[in-house]
Amino acid sequence: MNTFSIAIHGGAGTLVKGMMTPEKEQEYKGALKAALDIGYKALEVGGSAIKAVEAAVIALEDSHLFNAGKGSVFTATETHEMDASIMDGKTLNAGAVSLISGIKNPVSLARDVMEKSEHVFLAGEGAMQFAKQLDYKVEDDTYFYDEFRHEQWKEIKHTDSFQLDHSVKKDSKFGTVGAVACDQHGNIAAATSTGGMTNKKWGRVGDSPMIGAGNYANNKTCAISCTGSGEFFIRGVVAYDVACLMEHKNMSLQDASDEVINKRIMEINGDGGLIAVDTQGNIAMPFNTEGMYRASKSSNGNEEVSIYK
Ligand code: ASP
Repeated sequence: MNTFSIAIHGGAGTLVKGMMTPEKEQEYKGALKAALDIGYKALEVGGSAIKAVEAAVIALEDSHLFNAGKGSVFTATETHEMDASIMDGKTLNAGAVSLISGIKNPVSLARDVMEKSEHVFLAGEGAMQFAKQLDYKVEDDTYFYDEFRHEQWKEIKHTDSFQLDHSVKKDSKFGTVGAVACDQHGNIAAATSTGGMTNKKWGRVGDSPMIGAGNYANNKTCAISCTGSGEFFIRGVVAYDVACLMEHKNMSLQDASDEVINKRIMEINGDGGLIAVDTQGNIAMPFNTEGMYRASKSSNGNEEVSIYK
């Protein structure tokens, strides 16, 4: 049997150690551990990597602590616009949605785009029509409302700026969520889901739903889910770049991930991190920010739940 493993993240950014209370820290770690266990269990009973990453991301979307699903950040017009994507490394099938609202679990809609449509990427009104056709319930705004997120938005709503949900000033609620997994058959998958960046406008789309930028999986190399300021991750084609370094330069998962996060993306001032897995079940979780909510578990006995460096 192949070593099976899963890694998840709940966002990367500026989180200065000591700014969070021990209770808050425990709350975040507890939410990460719960999502990790759900994904790991799916692998343990022989489930596919796709199933495991979807299950773990659903658990994170359902937590108000993270900027995805419930707890998504506010746009410039005080709404929520969510993005998500999923990719199967075995088949290279992929699905993504962007600028959707009212959907409790955007990652499942992305999976439905992959499995039940002829397309890869649906956005806005069209994506919502597709969801309604599949009888998705559309939640009202109160489901997604989170006071902390609303306060973050109020602080910058009169400005032209937009920011990662984990701002420098605050005890931060980190954001975007993602999962990567390698199953018992050595197949890998990746999923990413986000509310995007606070105060975003003009239909801004980040890296999270973009295959190759914020999310990628290919059994030849690796499965990747990114988090950070999306504009840089799009320009760096980050997730695919890690896969390319492995494929064309024969780099290991760890070396390729480090090269992209700690060198290439920093050269264009990009901040963030990623989680990565290969078909041997190896895991890498580099970030160039103060912290990244992250957790991983492998059938070889390794387990980690961490926030800071
Ligand atoms: N990458 C996400 C975006 O730009 C934000 C995040 O990772 O927190 O939409």
